[in-house]
Amino acid sequence: PRLVEDEDGGVLFFYSTSSSSSSSFGYANNLQQQRQRLPVFKRRDAILFLVENHATTIVVGETGSGKTTQIPQYLNEGGWAESGHVIGCTQPRRLAVQSVASRVAEEMGVKLGEEVGYVIRFEDVTTPGVTRIKFLTDGVLLREMMDDPLLSKYSVIMIDEAHERSISTDIVLGLLKKIQRRRPELRLIISSATIEAKSIASFFRASKKHRGGATKELGPKTEPAIVSVEGRGFTVEINYIQEPVADYLRAAVSTVMLIHKQQTVGDILVFLTGQDDIDAGVQLLNEEAQSSGKSNGELLVLPLYSGLSRAEQDLVFSPTPRGKRKIIISTNIAETSLTLEGIVYVVDSGFSKQRFYDPLSDIENLVVAPISKASARQRAGRAGRVRPGKCFRLYTEEYYVNEMSAEGIPEMQRSNLVSCIIQLKALGIDNILGFGWPSSPSPEAMIRALEVLYSLGVLDDDAKLTSPTGFQVAEIPLDPMLSKALLASNELGCSEEMLTISAVLSVQSIWISVRGAQKQLDEAKLRFAAAEGDHVTFLNVYKGFLESGKSSKWCHKNFINYHAMKKVLETREQLKKTAQRLGIVLKSCDRDIQVIRKAITAGFFANACHLEPYSHEGKYKTVRTSQDVYIHPSSVLFRVNPKWVVYHSLVSTDRRYMRNVVTIDPTWLVEVAPHYYQYQGPGSIATLTR
Ligand code: ADP
Ligand code: MG
Repeated sequence: PRLVEDEDGGVLFFYSTSSSSSSSFGYANNLQQQRQRLPVFKRRDAILFLVENHATTIVVGETGSGKTTQIPQYLNEGGWAESGHVIGCTQPRRLAVQSVASRVAEEMGVKLGEEVGYVIRFEDVTTPGVTRIKFLTDGVLLREMMDDPLLSKYSVIMIDEAHERSISTDIVLGLLKKIQRRRPELRLIISSATIEAKSIASFFRASKKHRGGATKELGPKTEPAIVSVEGRGFTVEINYIQEPVADYLRAAVSTVMLIHKQQTVGDILVFLTGQDDIDAGVQLLNEEAQSSGKSNGELLVLPLYSGLSRAEQDLVFSPTPRGKRKIIISTNIAETSLTLEGIVYVVDSGFSKQRFYDPLSDIENLVVAPISKASARQRAGRAGRVRPGKCFRLYTEEYYVNEMSAEGIPEMQRSNLVSCIIQLKALGIDNILGFGWPSSPSPEAMIRALEVLYSLGVLDDDAKLTSPTGFQVAEIPLDPMLSKALLASNELGCSEEMLTISAVLSVQSIWISVRGAQKQLDEAKLRFAAAEGDHVTFLNVYKGFLESGKSSKWCHKNFINYHAMKKVLETREQLKKTAQRLGIVLKSCDRDIQVIRKAITAGFFANACHLEPYSHEGKYKTVRTSQDVYIHPSSVLFRVNPKWVVYHSLVSTDRRYMRNVVTIDPTWLVEVAPHYYQYQGPGSIATLTR
C-alpha cells in the first residue's frame, strides 16, 4: 500500500488497490489522423452495416472512444444526410451539446451552425436546409415532436449517453419506440458508456410482440443490434482514503496540493458537485497555490459546469501551457459526457448533485448525494486516457465495497413529472399509465402532477389538454406554472414584464456569488430590492442593465453576472417569439406593480403561504398543505416577512425555504383560482376540498 500524507495534520492517508485493464495508442498530429486512431474507427463499417439493416443499433463503448463525435460523421459519410435528411444526436446536457457540436464542426472543417449545428433550449444554431448533423438535448427533441410527431426530417437519431437515464432520455426512448412502428425507415442508435445497454436492448426488443405473426418483413430487422467498441484506457491505480473525511471540499483541495507536490506531470480532474462548491474549490486552490510559494503560478485552476461562458469552456479544452499543471474542477459532466485530454489524476469526492422529488411535500431538490459504483468506476477511468493514471477516492474502500449502490436510480423515479406529463399529453399520449416507460415513475408523483395540471386548468375532467389554455401552456418552453402566469399577463396587460421575469427565472442566478463577499452582495442587492419581492427586483435589475447599455462593467460593479444577463436577453427574445405566435400581445404595465403580482399569482396560487401570527422567526404555513416554510436568506424579503406571499420554488436544507418570493393580497387567490380557494372571512383563505 502507498501512503500519501498531508503535512498539516495528517488527515489524508491513501492506499492503492485494484487496477483496470490497459492497452496502448500512439499520438497523432492532425485531426484526420486523430479521428482514425479512435477505437470507434475500427467499428466504422460494422456500425454502418448494422444501421443499414437494423431499426435499432446499440453502441456500447467507453468514454472517449469516439462515439459522440465520430458516429454522426460516419453516418454523414455513409449518405444518411442525403435529400435533405438530418442526422440527429441527443445529449442529456446542454454544455455537452455545444461542446461536441463545435468539435465536430472543427473536424469537418465547417462553420458551426452550417453543416453541423446544435439546438438547446432558447438557442438554435442551425441553418435549415444546410445542417446535416444536428446535436440537441433530448428535451429539445421532445419539443420538436410537438410540431413534427414523427420527426420526419430525421433519417437517423442517435440517443447518446443512454446510461445516464435522464428523464427526457427515457421519455424520448419510449416515444421513439412508437415512432418506429409508424416509420420503419427511421434508424435509431442508442449509445451508452456502460453495460446498462442491456436493459435498453431488452426494452426495444419487447416490441417484437407487435410484429404480428407470419408477415414477412421487408424493412430492417426489429431485433436491436449491439456493437461494442473496445476501450483504450490505461491502467488506473485506485487509492482510497483510510479514514472518512468530514469535508470533501477541503479534502479535495489538500489532495490536489499533495498530488501536485509529490506526483509527476499530468493534469488533475476533480469531481465535486455543483457551481457553489466548485467555485469555492477554485478559490481555495488558488489561495493555497499562492501561499505555498514554490508552486505559485504553476497551477491553472479551471471550473467546469453548465452555465460557463464560451471562453471559459474553451479554456478547459485548450492544451495545458508548458510548465503548468491544469486542474479542472468539474461536476459529473466530465464523468462521461465530455472527454478531457491530458488527465492523469482524478480526485473523486464520491458525491454528485442529484434531483430528488417528494410528491407529498412537492419539493424537488437538487441535493448532494453519494454516487454509485458505476459512476465511481467511470470517474476513475478518466485518469487513464493518455497514460497510466491514478484515482484518489475521498471515501474508504470499505464504504465503496459495502455501501455504495451498484447503479444510480433513473431520474424518472426521482423527479417532478409535471412537465413530462404535459408534454406527453400534448403529443396525444392520453394513457399516461399505460405508456411504455423504460422504468415506471412512482404513482404518487404521477397523481401529484395530474393534480397540478388540473388545478392550472391545463387538463380537463377527462385528463385531456384543455383548449386553448392546455395547448398554449404546453407550447411555452417553461414550467407550466410560469407558462400560466405568462398567459395571465396577457389579460392583465403586463406581458413585457412577465417575459422578463420568466427569462430571469430560467437562468441559474443573475447574482455573482463570491465566497467571503456575502456582505457586498447583499448590499448590491439592496440597490435593486423591491418591497414587493424578488420578481419585481429582477425587473429593476433588468431595467438597470438596459440603461447601462448592457455594460459588463456595470454588472461587475453591482455583483451581477454579465453572462447570465446576456442569457436573459437571448431567452427573453426566444420566449417573446413563442408568446407572439400564441397571440400574446406585448404590453407593459409601466409602474403598476400590482398587475404583475396578480399575474404571478395566477400561475403560482398553489404556492401561497401566510405568516404565522406571533411567529418571531418568520415561520410561514403553506395554505395547501400547512407545511412550515421560511423565506430563503437569498430573497430580498428575508427578514421582511410580509403577511401573504407566493413562492416560485421550495428547497429544503435545514428547513424548507421558499426561493423567489412575491407579496400578494390573499383575496387575489380566490379571484384567480375560485376552483381552488375559498374565502373564509378576513385574512382567512382555505383550499377547497380535493
Ligand atoms: P465518446 O462519445 O465515446 O465518449 P467522444 O466522441 O466524445 O467520445 O471523444 C472522442 C475524442 O474527441 C476524444 O479523444 C476527445 O478528446 C476528442 N474531443 C471531443 N470533444 C472535444 C473538444 N471539444 N475539444 C477537443 N477534443 C475533443
Ligand atoms: Mg460521448
